[in-house]
Amino acid sequence: MATNGEGKQQEVSRHQEVGHKSLLQSDALYQYILETSVYPREPEPMKELREITAKHPWNIMTTSADEGQFLNMLLKLINAKNTMEIGVYTGYSLLATALALPDDGKILAMDINRENYELGLPVIEKAGVAHKIDFREGPALPVLDHMIEDGKYHGTFDFIFVDADKDNYLNYHKRLIELVKVGGVIGYDNTLWNGSVVAPPDAPLRKYVRYYRDFVLELNKALAADPRIEICMLPVGDGITLCRRVN
Ligand code: SAM
Ligand code: CA
Repeated sequence: MATNGEGKQQEVSRHQEVGHKSLLQSDALYQYILETSVYPREPEPMKELREITAKHPWNIMTTSADEGQFLNMLLKLINAKNTMEIGVYTGYSLLATALALPDDGKILAMDINRENYELGLPVIEKAGVAHKIDFREGPALPVLDHMIEDGKYHGTFDFIFVDADKDNYLNYHKRLIELVKVGGVIGYDNTLWNGSVVAPPDAPLRKYVRYYRDFVLELNKALAADPRIEICMLPVGDGITLCRRVN
């Protein structure tokens, strides 16, 4: 259709700049989502944690408020009880998860940095959900290897959120596919990697964006070809790919 064609052209020009902040048509539309759907319903502890995190020098790493709302809803929809998170930072996605789980729900949360987790911990405690969290400081891969070796964790997780070192996502996937339940979900975060997944080879990218881009591209290809999962790539935040284990 002609109108569609025109619309498409406009869209291309709006998104020309690599690293365009929002995947939507405009930043105003993103702001509309935040102000209409997200902020008015954001639980008070999440708002408090978001404001604390905003003052931290590495705040670019935080999960956005709309993605937090999405994760919270998703966990409730799938009745998640036993979950895992790789990459905690100050805990915004962790708190979104903890608030969604039933009182006896569990989150195995891993991060190499405890200090940032402890920045958010008082808010998590005040929200009355800290008892659901088992935080392990250190690299996630050896913990996953132990769980694989010790057969009792196989097929036990309802939901796993991966939001850490992008160069390890495929290593995580090899292990997580064994640990998630059949019918359970793994969410890989940042799979649109700042829009760089479609950037031309000579595009001016920030160093870390360029470094991790090939890993993200490789992951996306591998997930699309993996017969053990069904996938859905959503343009929420920086892109999240949901993988449902089918066998
Ligand atoms: N989900 C977090 C949130 O909602 O704010 C954001 C996580 S941040 C993007 C990535 C985190 O991964 C950092 O806190 C970093 O310390 C952690 N990380 C990096 N390498 C890791 C590893 N090998 N194992 C576990 N965590 C790691
Ligand atoms: Ca992320």
